Amino acid sequence: MEIAIIAHDGKKAEMVQFLNEHQAIFHQKEITLISTGTTGKKVKKAGFEVLRMLSGPMGGDAQIAARVAEGKCSMVIFFRDPLEKHPHEPDVLMLMRLCDVHDVPLATNLASAELFMKALK
Ligand code: PGA
Repeated sequence: MEIAIIAHDGKKAEMVQFLNEHQAIFHQKEITLISTGTTGKKVKKAGFEVLRMLSGPMGGDAQIAARVAEGKCSMVIFFRDPLEKHPHEPDVLMLMRLCDVHDVPLATNLASAELFMKALK
């Protein structure tokens, strides 16, 4: 199962804490993590294997959106920062839209991400 983890800059610390709290799930060999570039660096530094795409502003969210459309990625956890402006907002909207088009679970905040973890257990 391929799970995408993405975090805007203001949410990267929260994302790392979330991964560590659920490391038993994310270390399972059935789960492949994919991330946008800078998020992926942090994921790797925290000790997880991850397939890194381009950085978000350079097209990483669009790459993950393509994997959702192709049926490769089956869950997206996106720690969005609603209080910041992002130059790649159109790509983020595309990713969220494609999750809806293909009925792929999408969490955009910590509370939803925690519920997804309960479902995966
Ligand atoms: P980043 O991109 O992981 O390269 O910071 C995340 C994003 O802002 O979409």
